[in-house]
Amino acid sequence: MSQEHSDAVATLLGPAEVRELAARLDVTPTKKLGQNFVHDPNTVRKIVRLAGVTEHDEVIEIGPGLGSLTLGLTEVGASVTAIEIDPRLAAQLPQTQAQMQPNAKLRVVLSDALDLDRSHLEGQPAPTVLVANLPYNVSVPILMHLLELIPELQSGLVMVQAEVGYRIAAGPGSKEYGSPSAKAAWYGDWSIAGTVSRKIFWPIPGVDSVLVGFAKHAEPIGTEAERATTFALVNAAFAGRRKMIRQSLQAAIPGSTTESVSELVQRAGLDPQARAESLSISDYLRITRVLV
Ligand code: SAM
Repeated sequence: MSQEHSDAVATLLGPAEVRELAARLDVTPTKKLGQNFVHDPNTVRKIVRLAGVTEHDEVIEIGPGLGSLTLGLTEVGASVTAIEIDPRLAAQLPQTQAQMQPNAKLRVVLSDALDLDRSHLEGQPAPTVLVANLPYNVSVPILMHLLELIPELQSGLVMVQAEVGYRIAAGPGSKEYGSPSAKAAWYGDWSIAGTVSRKIFWPIPGVDSVLVGFAKHAEPIGTEAERATTFALVNAAFAGRRKMIRQSLQAAIPGSTTESVSELVQRAGLDPQARAESLSISDYLRITRVLV
């Protein structure tokens, strides 16, 4: 057995360890919490490599579950803050870590990621990298919450349902482009970093998964106040995505009319007859800047 193989057995969770841990905790994975656990150390190492995580990184992980990905992150020496909603899993993880990687730098926070606030992150350097196998039914709200809450994040790699991943990484004009794509683009550049087989999960999910990576823009494209207004415009535009923006945007601009919105959009250098999916986040920001 090679050294690498014996290390893999010792420090990461394979199928036997995942089953054994779940049985010991009496955990039956639930759909409601998106509990599909990775039981393939090779995939874990691939994710960590693609995320570019090193011993110098402060990583935040959402939904560590039994610890499959967490142990891959701590294996390379990164400091990890892991946010888990399931109390049984959150309680077990430090014990798994103590047994398998006693020197790992890991902090487990029992919380719904959507309720995470800065107080949960106090007492240590802010995370700069996000790596997670996200619970699929809430992956977009969790991503948006974290990007807003932690401006220190510089990059990340998340595993999400394929359909969602392609939406997040989509650009204007493509059929997948929607409000998550436009909002995600506020924070950085997103791309599909890879696909993963359904077989690496237990239980096997009913949907395909992809890895989506992001790199933060070197400079924020706008201020926080501008972001709030721009996101309201994006929401209104996509809520009425079949309409022209001179109509759909009225929902976000109190007291406006088709004529006043047309005038505003023209002042921003855009076509009032355009539809939501043809505008980039910078276009929405241009409308904001004329508006405020
Ligand atoms: N990271 C583990 C892995 O790769 O094997 C588990 C990933 S599993 C797809 C999603 C995990 O997120 C589960 O452990 C689940 O309990 C947790 N989870 C679900 N909803 C959550 C939420 N709102 N906040 C934090 N964790 C959540």
